[in-house]
Amino acid sequence: MRERGPARLDAGWPGVPHRDALVAAEKAALWRGEVPVFEVRPGHRDVRLEDGTRLADVLPVPPLEETAARLAALDEDDLAVQIGIIDASLAALPPAAGARPGTPRGPRPSGDLLRDALGIARRLDAAAVRSGDRIGWLGIEVVDARTRRVAPAGLDLYGGLPGIGLFLTYLSAVTGEPWAGRLAERVADEVAARLAAASAVRGAVPPLGPVYHLAHAAAVHGRRDLAEAARDALLPPPGPPRPGLPSGDVLEGEAGLVLSALALHAVLPGEQIAGVARAAGERLLAHDLTGPGFGYGASGAAVALARLDELCPDPRFASRARSLAAGERAPGRDPGWCQGAAGVALARLELAARYPEDAAPLGRSLATAASVLRDAVRRDAAPPDDSLCHGTAAVHEALAALDGSAPAPRRDAWRTALPEPAPGLLAGLSGAGYALLRRARPAEVPPVLAPAPPAPSAGLPFPPEETAP
Ligand SMILES: [Zn+2]
Repeated sequence: MRERGPARLDAGWPGVPHRDALVAAEKAALWRGEVPVFEVRPGHRDVRLEDGTRLADVLPVPPLEETAARLAALDEDDLAVQIGIIDASLAALPPAAGARPGTPRGPRPSGDLLRDALGIARRLDAAAVRSGDRIGWLGIEVVDARTRRVAPAGLDLYGGLPGIGLFLTYLSAVTGEPWAGRLAERVADEVAARLAAASAVRGAVPPLGPVYHLAHAAAVHGRRDLAEAARDALLPPPGPPRPGLPSGDVLEGEAGLVLSALALHAVLPGEQIAGVARAAGERLLAHDLTGPGFGYGASGAAVALARLDELCPDPRFASRARSLAAGERAPGRDPGWCQGAAGVALARLELAARYPEDAAPLGRSLATAASVLRDAVRRDAAPPDDSLCHGTAAVHEALAALDGSAPAPRRDAWRTALPEPAPGLLAGLSGAGYALLRRARPAEVPPVLAPAPPAPSAGLPFPPEETAP
Protein backbone atom coordinates (compact mmCIF):
# COMPACT_ATOMS: atom_id res chain seq x y z
CA MET A 1 0.00 0.00 0.00
CA ARG A 2 2.82 2.37 0.93
CA GLU A 3 4.39 1.80 -2.50
CA ARG A 4 1.11 1.92 -4.39
CA GLY A 5 0.08 5.44 -3.22
CA PRO A 6 3.18 7.30 -4.47
CA ALA A 7 3.28 5.14 -7.62
CA ARG A 8 -0.08 6.66 -8.62
CA LEU A 9 1.67 10.03 -8.86
CA ASP A 10 3.55 8.76 -11.93
CA ALA A 11 0.43 9.49 -13.96
CA GLY A 12 0.25 13.11 -12.78
CA TRP A 13 1.11 16.41 -14.52
CA PRO A 14 0.49 15.03 -18.04
CA GLY A 15 2.12 17.16 -20.72
CA VAL A 16 3.60 19.62 -18.23
CA PRO A 17 7.22 20.72 -18.73
CA HIS A 18 9.63 19.23 -16.18
CA ARG A 19 7.04 16.67 -15.13
CA ASP A 20 9.68 14.10 -14.12
CA ALA A 21 11.25 16.58 -11.70
CA LEU A 22 7.80 17.56 -10.33
CA VAL A 23 6.71 13.95 -9.78
CA ALA A 24 10.07 13.10 -8.16
CA ALA A 25 9.73 16.06 -5.77
CA GLU A 26 6.18 15.01 -4.83
CA LYS A 27 7.25 11.45 -4.13
CA ALA A 28 10.28 12.54 -2.11
CA ALA A 29 8.10 14.74 0.11
CA LEU A 30 5.53 11.99 0.64
CA TRP A 31 8.26 9.47 1.54
CA ARG A 32 9.45 11.96 4.17
CA GLY A 33 5.87 12.01 5.45
CA GLU A 34 5.36 15.63 4.38
CA VAL A 35 2.96 17.47 2.10
CA PRO A 36 4.68 18.41 -1.19
CA VAL A 37 5.20 22.19 -1.47
CA PHE A 38 5.72 24.08 -4.73
CA GLU A 39 6.28 27.81 -4.88
CA VAL A 40 5.21 30.19 -7.63
CA ARG A 41 5.71 33.97 -8.03
CA PRO A 42 2.78 36.15 -9.17
CA GLY A 43 4.45 37.47 -12.33
CA HIS A 44 6.41 34.39 -13.42
CA ARG A 45 5.74 31.04 -15.07
CA ASP A 46 8.46 29.24 -13.08
CA VAL A 47 7.88 26.74 -10.27
CA ARG A 48 10.35 26.42 -7.40
CA LEU A 49 10.84 23.17 -5.53
CA GLU A 50 11.41 23.05 -1.80
CA ASP A 51 15.17 22.69 -2.21
CA GLY A 52 15.27 25.93 -4.21
CA THR A 53 15.50 24.33 -7.67
CA ARG A 54 13.85 26.61 -10.24
CA LEU A 55 11.95 24.85 -13.06
CA ALA A 56 11.46 27.33 -15.89
CA ASP A 57 8.15 27.92 -17.73
CA VAL A 58 6.08 25.20 -16.04
CA LEU A 59 2.90 27.30 -15.90
CA PRO A 60 1.13 28.22 -19.14
CA VAL A 61 0.63 31.82 -17.92
CA PRO A 62 1.84 33.76 -14.86
CA PRO A 63 -0.56 33.36 -11.86
CA LEU A 64 -1.28 37.10 -11.77
CA GLU A 65 -2.49 37.07 -15.38
CA GLU A 66 -4.65 34.01 -14.72
CA THR A 67 -6.21 35.63 -11.66
CA ALA A 68 -6.93 38.82 -13.60
CA ALA A 69 -8.51 36.82 -16.42
CA ARG A 70 -10.74 34.93 -13.98
CA LEU A 71 -11.86 38.12 -12.27
CA ALA A 72 -12.64 39.70 -15.64
CA ALA A 73 -14.79 36.69 -16.56
CA LEU A 74 -17.01 36.87 -13.42
CA ASP A 75 -20.64 37.71 -14.18
CA GLU A 76 -23.58 38.78 -12.01
CA ASP A 77 -24.23 35.21 -10.81
CA ASP A 78 -20.59 34.77 -9.83
CA LEU A 79 -20.73 38.09 -8.01
CA ALA A 80 -23.73 36.84 -6.02
CA VAL A 81 -21.80 33.67 -5.10
CA GLN A 82 -18.78 35.72 -3.98
CA ILE A 83 -20.94 38.06 -1.89
CA GLY A 84 -22.65 34.97 -0.40
CA ILE A 85 -19.25 33.60 0.67
CA ILE A 86 -18.35 36.94 2.31
CA ASP A 87 -21.72 37.07 4.10
CA ALA A 88 -21.31 33.48 5.27
CA SER A 89 -17.82 34.19 6.55
CA LEU A 90 -19.16 37.09 8.60
CA ALA A 91 -22.02 34.92 9.87
CA ALA A 92 -19.50 32.28 10.96
CA LEU A 93 -17.79 34.70 13.34
CA PRO A 94 -18.36 33.80 17.01
CA PRO A 95 -21.78 35.10 18.08
CA ALA A 96 -21.83 38.13 20.37
CA ALA A 97 -22.65 37.32 23.99
CA GLY A 98 -26.38 36.81 24.40
CA ALA A 99 -27.02 36.71 20.64
CA ARG A 100 -29.80 34.39 19.51
CA PRO A 101 -28.96 31.94 16.74
CA GLY A 102 -30.73 31.70 13.43
CA THR A 103 -31.85 35.25 12.70
CA PRO A 104 -34.75 34.60 10.32
CA ARG A 105 -34.23 35.55 6.71
CA GLY A 106 -36.23 34.84 3.64
CA PRO A 107 -39.97 34.89 3.03
CA ARG A 108 -42.58 34.20 5.67
CA PRO A 109 -44.42 30.91 5.21
CA SER A 110 -47.82 31.16 3.56
CA GLY A 111 -49.35 28.41 5.67
CA ASP A 112 -49.83 26.15 2.62
CA LEU A 113 -47.46 23.38 3.70
CA LEU A 114 -46.46 21.99 0.31
CA ARG A 115 -46.19 25.42 -1.31
CA ASP A 116 -43.89 26.52 1.51
CA ALA A 117 -41.80 23.35 1.16
CA LEU A 118 -41.44 24.05 -2.57
CA GLY A 119 -40.42 27.61 -1.71
CA ILE A 120 -37.63 26.28 0.51
CA ALA A 121 -36.47 23.98 -2.30
CA ARG A 122 -36.37 26.94 -4.70
CA ARG A 123 -34.17 28.82 -2.25
CA LEU A 124 -31.87 25.79 -2.08
CA ASP A 125 -31.88 25.54 -5.88
CA ALA A 126 -30.86 29.20 -6.18
CA ALA A 127 -28.12 28.86 -3.55
CA ALA A 128 -26.55 25.72 -5.06
CA VAL A 129 -23.02 25.97 -6.43
CA ARG A 130 -22.78 24.17 -9.76
CA SER A 131 -19.99 23.13 -12.07
CA GLY A 132 -20.94 20.96 -15.02
CA ASP A 133 -22.81 17.98 -13.56
CA ARG A 134 -21.51 18.61 -10.08
CA ILE A 135 -23.58 20.31 -7.39
CA GLY A 136 -22.86 21.49 -3.87
CA TRP A 137 -23.80 24.00 -1.21
CA LEU A 138 -21.92 26.27 1.12
CA GLY A 139 -22.81 26.08 4.75
CA ILE A 140 -21.45 26.90 8.15
CA GLU A 141 -19.72 24.08 9.94
CA VAL A 142 -19.30 23.83 13.68
CA VAL A 143 -15.66 23.01 14.41
CA ASP A 144 -15.88 23.18 18.19
CA ALA A 145 -17.75 25.15 20.85
CA ARG A 146 -15.97 28.40 19.89
CA THR A 147 -15.19 27.97 16.21
CA ARG A 148 -17.39 27.93 13.12
CA ARG A 149 -16.29 28.20 9.53
CA VAL A 150 -17.69 28.42 6.04
CA ALA A 151 -17.37 25.03 4.42
CA PRO A 152 -18.88 23.06 1.55
CA ALA A 153 -21.71 20.74 2.61
CA GLY A 154 -20.19 17.32 3.28
CA LEU A 155 -21.46 13.74 3.38
CA ASP A 156 -23.12 13.72 6.81
CA LEU A 157 -26.89 13.64 7.24
CA TYR A 158 -26.72 16.50 9.73
CA GLY A 159 -25.66 19.40 7.52
CA GLY A 160 -24.41 17.75 4.35
CA LEU A 161 -25.66 16.78 0.92
CA PRO A 162 -27.45 13.59 2.10
CA GLY A 163 -29.82 15.59 4.29
CA ILE A 164 -30.49 18.14 1.55
CA GLY A 165 -31.01 15.28 -0.92
CA LEU A 166 -33.40 13.44 1.41
CA PHE A 167 -35.65 16.51 1.65
CA LEU A 168 -35.63 17.05 -2.12
CA THR A 169 -36.32 13.37 -2.81
CA TYR A 170 -39.45 13.28 -0.65
CA LEU A 171 -40.51 16.71 -1.89
CA SER A 172 -40.46 15.32 -5.42
CA ALA A 173 -42.33 12.19 -4.30
CA VAL A 174 -45.09 14.18 -2.60
CA THR A 175 -45.49 17.05 -5.09
CA GLY A 176 -44.60 15.28 -8.35
CA GLU A 177 -42.80 18.47 -9.45
CA PRO A 178 -40.42 17.45 -12.26
CA TRP A 179 -37.82 20.13 -11.41
CA ALA A 180 -37.73 18.95 -7.80
CA GLY A 181 -37.22 15.38 -9.01
CA ARG A 182 -34.37 16.41 -11.32
CA LEU A 183 -32.69 18.37 -8.55
CA ALA A 184 -33.13 15.49 -6.08
CA GLU A 185 -31.61 12.96 -8.48
CA ARG A 186 -28.75 15.29 -9.26
CA VAL A 187 -27.93 15.53 -5.55
CA ALA A 188 -28.17 11.73 -5.24
CA ASP A 189 -25.77 11.30 -8.16
CA GLU A 190 -23.38 13.76 -6.52
CA VAL A 191 -23.56 11.87 -3.22
CA ALA A 192 -22.94 8.57 -5.02
CA ALA A 193 -19.89 10.02 -6.80
CA ARG A 194 -18.45 11.53 -3.65
CA LEU A 195 -19.19 8.36 -1.71
CA ALA A 196 -17.19 6.27 -4.18
CA ALA A 197 -14.21 8.58 -3.71
CA ALA A 198 -14.58 8.86 0.07
CA SER A 199 -14.95 5.14 0.69
CA ALA A 200 -11.33 4.66 -0.40
CA VAL A 201 -10.23 6.76 2.58
CA ARG A 202 -10.66 5.20 6.01
CA GLY A 203 -12.98 7.19 8.25
CA ALA A 204 -14.13 9.55 5.48
CA VAL A 205 -17.70 8.19 5.20
CA PRO A 206 -20.00 9.35 8.01
CA PRO A 207 -21.93 6.42 9.53
CA LEU A 208 -25.27 8.20 9.09
CA GLY A 209 -25.33 10.04 5.78
CA PRO A 210 -24.77 8.85 2.23
CA VAL A 211 -25.89 5.23 2.64
CA TYR A 212 -29.09 6.23 4.42
CA HIS A 213 -29.86 8.92 1.83
CA LEU A 214 -29.09 6.76 -1.20
CA ALA A 215 -31.29 3.93 0.12
CA HIS A 216 -34.24 6.35 0.20
CA ALA A 217 -33.34 8.01 -3.11
CA ALA A 218 -33.07 4.58 -4.76
CA ALA A 219 -36.51 3.65 -3.42
CA VAL A 220 -38.29 6.88 -4.41
CA HIS A 221 -36.64 7.42 -7.80
CA GLY A 222 -36.63 3.70 -8.66
CA ARG A 223 -32.87 3.80 -9.15
CA ARG A 224 -31.23 0.48 -8.27
CA ASP A 225 -27.82 1.97 -9.21
CA LEU A 226 -28.02 4.39 -6.26
CA ALA A 227 -28.62 1.49 -3.86
CA GLU A 228 -25.71 -0.39 -5.41
CA ALA A 229 -23.44 2.64 -4.99
CA ALA A 230 -24.39 2.69 -1.31
CA ARG A 231 -23.79 -1.05 -1.02
CA ASP A 232 -20.36 -0.86 -2.66
CA ALA A 233 -19.28 1.75 -0.13
CA LEU A 234 -20.85 0.00 2.84
CA LEU A 235 -19.39 -3.47 2.37
CA PRO A 236 -16.04 -3.84 4.09
CA PRO A 237 -12.98 -4.14 1.84
CA PRO A 238 -11.18 -7.48 1.97
CA GLY A 239 -8.63 -7.75 4.74
CA PRO A 240 -8.74 -7.24 8.49
CA PRO A 241 -12.07 -6.08 9.97
CA ARG A 242 -12.58 -2.34 10.00
CA PRO A 243 -11.85 -0.59 13.28
CA GLY A 244 -14.82 0.52 15.33
CA LEU A 245 -16.15 4.06 15.45
CA PRO A 246 -15.17 6.16 18.47
CA SER A 247 -18.77 6.50 19.64
CA GLY A 248 -21.95 4.46 19.76
CA ASP A 249 -24.52 7.16 19.02
CA VAL A 250 -26.80 7.67 16.02
CA LEU A 251 -25.36 10.86 14.55
CA GLU A 252 -21.69 9.90 14.55
CA GLY A 253 -21.35 6.36 15.84
CA GLU A 254 -22.16 2.67 15.48
CA ALA A 255 -25.92 3.14 15.96
CA GLY A 256 -25.93 5.38 12.87
CA LEU A 257 -24.13 2.68 10.92
CA VAL A 258 -26.70 0.09 12.07
CA LEU A 259 -29.59 2.30 10.93
CA SER A 260 -27.88 3.04 7.59
CA ALA A 261 -27.32 -0.64 6.87
CA LEU A 262 -30.92 -1.47 7.86
CA ALA A 263 -32.24 1.23 5.51
CA LEU A 264 -30.19 -0.15 2.65
CA HIS A 265 -31.20 -3.73 3.48
CA ALA A 266 -34.82 -2.66 3.10
CA VAL A 267 -34.26 -1.87 -0.59
CA LEU A 268 -31.41 -4.24 -1.43
CA PRO A 269 -31.70 -7.23 0.92
CA GLY A 270 -28.66 -9.41 1.25
CA GLU A 271 -26.60 -11.36 3.73
CA GLN A 272 -23.58 -9.08 3.31
CA ILE A 273 -25.49 -5.90 4.15
CA ALA A 274 -27.15 -7.64 7.11
CA GLY A 275 -23.63 -8.67 8.15
CA VAL A 276 -22.49 -5.03 8.21
CA ALA A 277 -25.48 -4.15 10.41
CA ARG A 278 -24.77 -7.08 12.73
CA ALA A 279 -21.06 -6.24 13.05
CA ALA A 280 -21.86 -2.61 13.89
CA GLY A 281 -24.41 -3.86 16.45
CA GLU A 282 -21.78 -6.13 18.01
CA ARG A 283 -19.43 -3.15 18.39
CA LEU A 284 -22.29 -1.02 19.71
CA LEU A 285 -22.79 -3.53 22.56
CA ALA A 286 -19.42 -2.40 23.92
CA HIS A 287 -20.35 1.30 24.06
CA ASP A 288 -21.81 2.79 27.18
CA LEU A 289 -24.37 5.51 26.50
CA THR A 290 -26.27 7.12 29.35
CA GLY A 291 -26.91 10.63 28.01
CA PRO A 292 -30.49 11.41 26.97
CA GLY A 293 -31.77 11.86 23.42
CA PHE A 294 -31.89 10.19 20.03
CA GLY A 295 -29.02 11.80 18.13
CA TYR A 296 -26.32 11.57 20.77
CA GLY A 297 -27.97 9.66 23.58
CA ALA A 298 -28.98 6.20 24.73
CA SER A 299 -32.44 6.40 23.09
CA GLY A 300 -31.12 6.24 19.53
CA ALA A 301 -28.74 3.39 20.29
CA ALA A 302 -31.57 1.44 21.96
CA VAL A 303 -33.80 1.81 18.89
CA ALA A 304 -30.98 0.77 16.55
CA LEU A 305 -30.36 -2.43 18.55
CA ALA A 306 -34.07 -3.21 18.84
CA ARG A 307 -34.51 -2.97 15.06
CA LEU A 308 -31.34 -4.96 14.45
CA ASP A 309 -32.72 -7.72 16.69
CA GLU A 310 -35.63 -8.05 14.29
CA LEU A 311 -33.39 -8.61 11.25
CA CYS A 312 -30.64 -10.57 13.05
CA PRO A 313 -32.27 -12.06 16.14
CA ASP A 314 -29.86 -12.16 19.07
CA PRO A 315 -30.93 -11.95 22.72
CA ARG A 316 -27.96 -9.69 23.46
CA PHE A 317 -29.30 -7.00 21.10
CA ALA A 318 -32.75 -6.97 22.73
CA SER A 319 -31.37 -7.06 26.23
CA ARG A 320 -28.95 -4.19 25.54
CA ALA A 321 -31.71 -2.14 23.88
CA ARG A 322 -33.81 -2.50 27.02
CA SER A 323 -30.93 -1.75 29.41
CA LEU A 324 -29.90 1.34 27.43
CA ALA A 325 -33.44 2.69 27.76
CA ALA A 326 -33.54 1.84 31.45
CA GLY A 327 -30.18 3.50 32.16
CA GLU A 328 -30.77 6.70 30.19
CA ARG A 329 -30.63 9.92 32.21
CA ALA A 330 -33.78 12.08 32.22
CA PRO A 331 -33.63 14.88 29.61
CA GLY A 332 -34.01 17.70 32.14
CA ARG A 333 -35.75 20.67 30.50
CA ASP A 334 -34.19 20.08 27.05
CA PRO A 335 -37.05 19.43 24.57
CA GLY A 336 -34.74 18.60 21.62
CA TRP A 337 -34.29 15.46 19.59
CA CYS A 338 -30.49 15.25 19.71
CA GLN A 339 -30.13 15.27 23.51
CA GLY A 340 -33.57 15.86 24.89
CA ALA A 341 -37.21 14.96 25.38
CA ALA A 342 -38.29 14.73 21.72
CA GLY A 343 -35.68 12.03 21.12
CA VAL A 344 -36.56 10.22 24.34
CA ALA A 345 -40.28 10.25 23.48
CA LEU A 346 -39.84 8.97 19.90
CA ALA A 347 -37.65 6.12 21.16
CA ARG A 348 -40.04 5.21 24.01
CA LEU A 349 -43.00 4.99 21.63
CA GLU A 350 -41.15 2.50 19.44
CA LEU A 351 -39.60 0.49 22.30
CA ALA A 352 -42.92 0.21 24.17
CA ALA A 353 -44.47 -1.38 21.07
CA ARG A 354 -41.58 -3.85 20.80
CA TYR A 355 -41.16 -4.68 24.51
CA PRO A 356 -44.59 -4.78 26.19
CA GLU A 357 -42.97 -6.38 29.26
CA ASP A 358 -41.22 -3.02 29.87
CA ALA A 359 -44.39 -0.99 29.44
CA ALA A 360 -44.35 0.43 32.99
CA PRO A 361 -40.80 1.91 33.11
CA LEU A 362 -40.97 3.00 29.46
CA GLY A 363 -44.32 4.66 30.13
CA ARG A 364 -42.90 6.58 33.11
CA SER A 365 -40.01 8.07 31.12
CA LEU A 366 -42.39 8.76 28.24
CA ALA A 367 -44.65 10.74 30.55
CA THR A 368 -41.70 12.80 31.82
CA ALA A 369 -40.59 13.54 28.25
CA ALA A 370 -44.14 14.41 27.22
CA SER A 371 -44.46 17.02 29.95
CA VAL A 372 -41.17 18.66 28.84
CA LEU A 373 -42.50 18.72 25.26
CA ARG A 374 -45.83 20.27 26.28
CA ASP A 375 -43.98 22.99 28.19
CA ALA A 376 -41.89 23.67 25.08
CA VAL A 377 -44.89 24.75 23.02
CA ARG A 378 -45.59 27.53 25.52
CA ARG A 379 -44.28 30.86 24.30
CA ASP A 380 -42.04 31.43 27.34
CA ALA A 381 -40.38 28.01 27.12
CA ALA A 382 -40.12 27.71 23.33
CA PRO A 383 -36.93 26.31 21.76
CA PRO A 384 -34.43 28.87 20.43
CA ASP A 385 -34.96 27.94 16.77
CA ASP A 386 -37.12 25.85 14.41
CA SER A 387 -34.59 23.09 13.65
CA LEU A 388 -35.33 19.38 13.42
CA CYS A 389 -32.42 18.77 15.77
CA HIS A 390 -33.51 20.66 18.87
CA GLY A 391 -36.00 23.28 17.70
CA THR A 392 -39.74 23.56 17.25
CA ALA A 393 -39.71 21.03 14.38
CA ALA A 394 -38.34 18.35 16.74
CA VAL A 395 -40.92 19.19 19.41
CA HIS A 396 -43.80 19.14 16.92
CA GLU A 397 -42.70 15.85 15.38
CA ALA A 398 -42.59 14.20 18.82
CA LEU A 399 -45.96 15.65 19.90
CA ALA A 400 -47.56 14.52 16.64
CA ALA A 401 -46.27 10.98 17.24
CA LEU A 402 -47.29 11.06 20.90
CA ASP A 403 -50.93 12.07 20.61
CA GLY A 404 -51.36 14.22 17.52
CA SER A 405 -51.19 17.38 19.65
CA ALA A 406 -48.58 19.31 17.64
CA PRO A 407 -49.62 22.94 17.25
CA ALA A 408 -49.84 24.53 13.80
CA PRO A 409 -46.43 25.34 12.29
CA ARG A 410 -45.08 28.84 12.94
CA ARG A 411 -45.96 31.49 10.42
CA ASP A 412 -42.74 33.48 10.86
CA ALA A 413 -39.65 33.05 8.67
CA TRP A 414 -37.69 29.89 9.53
CA ARG A 415 -35.14 30.21 12.28
CA THR A 416 -32.30 27.82 11.49
CA ALA A 417 -30.07 26.54 14.30
CA LEU A 418 -26.94 27.66 12.46
CA PRO A 419 -26.60 31.09 10.86
CA GLU A 420 -27.48 31.18 7.19
CA PRO A 421 -26.48 29.86 4.76
CA ALA A 422 -27.73 26.72 6.50
CA PRO A 423 -28.89 24.39 3.72
CA GLY A 424 -28.70 21.20 5.83
CA LEU A 425 -31.30 18.90 7.33
CA LEU A 426 -30.93 18.92 11.09
CA ALA A 427 -29.91 22.53 11.71
CA GLY A 428 -31.00 24.20 8.48
CA LEU A 429 -33.49 24.92 5.76
CA SER A 430 -33.86 21.37 4.44
CA GLY A 431 -35.07 20.35 7.88
CA ALA A 432 -37.69 23.11 7.89
CA GLY A 433 -38.83 21.78 4.53
CA TYR A 434 -38.81 18.17 5.69
CA ALA A 435 -40.91 19.09 8.73
CA LEU A 436 -43.50 20.66 6.40
CA LEU A 437 -43.61 17.47 4.30
CA ARG A 438 -44.11 15.36 7.42
CA ARG A 439 -46.97 17.62 8.45
CA ALA A 440 -48.60 17.56 5.05
CA ARG A 441 -48.17 13.85 4.21
CA PRO A 442 -47.11 11.88 7.30
CA ALA A 443 -47.95 8.53 5.68
CA GLU A 444 -45.81 9.19 2.59
CA VAL A 445 -42.78 10.84 4.18
CA PRO A 446 -40.82 8.61 6.60
CA PRO A 447 -39.92 9.98 10.03
CA VAL A 448 -36.27 10.92 9.70
CA LEU A 449 -36.06 11.64 13.43
CA ALA A 450 -36.65 7.93 14.11
CA PRO A 451 -34.47 7.21 11.08
CA ALA A 452 -36.93 4.96 9.30
CA PRO A 453 -35.96 2.70 6.39
CA PRO A 454 -37.65 3.29 3.03
CA ALA A 455 -41.20 1.93 3.02
CA PRO A 456 -41.81 -1.20 0.95
CA SER A 457 -43.73 -0.47 -2.23
CA ALA A 458 -44.33 -1.78 -5.72
CA GLY A 459 -40.96 -2.86 -7.09
CA LEU A 460 -39.30 -2.75 -3.67
CA PRO A 461 -37.14 -4.28 -2.43
CA PHE A 462 -35.24 -4.56 -5.69
CA PRO A 463 -35.21 -8.17 -6.89
CA PRO A 464 -32.04 -10.19 -6.26
CA GLU A 465 -29.34 -9.63 -8.80
CA GLU A 466 -29.29 -12.13 -11.65
CA THR A 467 -26.08 -14.06 -11.57
CA ALA A 468 -24.05 -13.68 -14.73
CA PRO A 469 -24.24 -16.70 -17.03
ZN1 LIG B 1 -29.38 19.40 18.34
